[in-house]
Formats: sequence, structure tokens, C-alpha cells
Amino acid sequence: MGLFTRLLAKVKGESSALTLDWNELRSELLAADLGPKMTDDLMEQARKIKGDDAQAALTQIITSHLSQRERTLTSAASPAVILFVGVNGVGKTTSVAKVAHLLTQQGKSVLLGAADTFRAAAVDQLRTWGDRTGVQVITGKFEGEPAAVAFDAVTAGKAGGADYVLIDTAGRLHTKNDLMAELTKVKRVIEKVAPVREILLVLDATTGQNGLRQAKLFGEAVEVTGLIVTKLDGSARGGVALAIENELDIPIKFIGTGEQIADLSPFDPESYIQGLLS
Ligand code: GDP
Repeated sequence: MGLFTRLLAKVKGESSALTLDWNELRSELLAADLGPKMTDDLMEQARKIKGDDAQAALTQIITSHLSQRERTLTSAASPAVILFVGVNGVGKTTSVAKVAHLLTQQGKSVLLGAADTFRAAAVDQLRTWGDRTGVQVITGKFEGEPAAVAFDAVTAGKAGGADYVLIDTAGRLHTKNDLMAELTKVKRVIEKVAPVREILLVLDATTGQNGLRQAKLFGEAVEVTGLIVTKLDGSARGGVALAIENELDIPIKFIGTGEQIADLSPFDPESYIQGLLS
């Protein structure tokens, strides 16, 4: 029985061998990466639930902690420039390819900018994927200026009438200030050509509360418009999704559920909550 199902059973006053007391439930919610703030809010509100429809009441409480902001990707053209940011290893480059795949499936023309110039593997990964699918990938010199690659990509996308230009960025946590200064520069340089419509922060669900810290850090440097939470196919507990939405009011737009190109789904809050409670 899942954690939220047990919370529901507790609220309903059911008892079985699996019933937890409130303290145990609190520890479990914390262990599921909900974070202390969300856990305490949820516990306080859940304890007050009375009446028959405990499930509806709990659903409503959880829903109220999710962001109300737009979850669909911008369709503002042309081109709609989307920056992908996040620290190394979270699945950023893979997510760029996945979103490009999704958009091309929808009939959109997409161009990619491989501006993570410090990781040859990231550039190769995008290039290989672009070759396979016929999506143009703009690259630069190894360890070259990321902003220059981003600039070239957006210029090419604009000239070619692309619907979307997706820009992968470097995620070296060299020093926090370097990374953030570089990101603001990339954005500033792109905006000489076209506005940046979205900044998607990619987070690895398996890092739990560390993901929340990263979201706060990036949020200080740039205006993050949405999140992609990756690696939800593994043992990660989805609770971090709730914590991020609750604390930062940044909507999760996509979830990554595997290493293949099609392993990306739009985040659907209703079915997510249903999944938690069923
Ligand atoms: P980057 O450094 O943030 O650009 O990360 P990469 O895109 O290179 O991905 C790092 C590793 O995570 C690779 O082995 C990917 O295949 C893997 N990865 C990315 N997204 C997912 C996901 O949703 N699920 C799983 N299981 N692995 C993923």
C-alpha cells in the first residue's frame, strides 16, 4: 500500500496492520521528499478532515499545493526560444532531445543549439539525435563560448522560420556565480535576436531535496517558467514534485520516465494525484 493510500486510510479512521500513527506518517512523508513545509501543512490539514468523502478532501488539499501556472509549452513564435538549464547529469541534454521529438511529432519545425560546449558528449548526443531525425543542430567549438552558439542557433532558427529553437546550456557547477553569470549572458545575447520565451529547469528526481535547492539557486539567476523532472522511472519517490510546486510555484511541465527519446510525458496533476491516492 502506498504512502498516500495509508494517509487516506488514517484520515478515514480505518485500522489495519499497516495503519501508521501520525508521527510515523510524518516521517514517511519526509522520507518521500515532500520537504518539511509541505509535510507539516499537509499533516495539519489532513488531521482536520471530517465526514465521509475523505478522498475528495485529501485530493483537494493536495491540489491546493500545486502550481496554478500554465503547464503547456509556449506556442509564441517565431521562433519560440526555449532555454534548458540545470546542473550536469540531471538529464538536460536528453530532455532537449525528448522535447524536440515531441514537438516534431506535433508537426513543429525545431532547431537545436548545442550550447553545452564544455561537454563533448552532450554535443555529440544532440548531433547524433539530430542526424537520425533530420533536426538541424547548431554546434560550436569545444569549450567555445556558449552564448555564441546560442546566438548562432537562434539566428539560424529565425532565418529558417523554425517554430522552436531549443538551447541546451552548460551545467558545470564550477562555481555557482560562474554558472549563473554565464546563463544570464546566454539569455542576454540571444535576446539581441529573439526573446527567450521559456526557461525550463531540468531536475533529477533521485536527488530529492537537493532538487529543491537547485530550483531555488537557478531561480535567483533566471526566471524559470517550468520544470522537467527526470528519472521518475527509477526508485525516486514522486513526492519531490509536490514539494517543488508547493514551495516555488513553478509548474512541472514534463516528466522523464526513461532513457529513450519517447520517455517524456506532460505532467498531469490530476492523474498524478490519483496515482498517489489509488
Ligand atoms: P545532462 O548532463 O544534464 O545533460 O544529462 P544527460 O542528458 O547527459 O543524462 C545523464 C544520464 O541520465 C544519461 O545516462 C541519461 O540517459 C540519463 N537520463 C536522462 N533522463 C532520464 C530519465 O528520465 N530516466 C532515466 N532512467 N535516465 C535518464
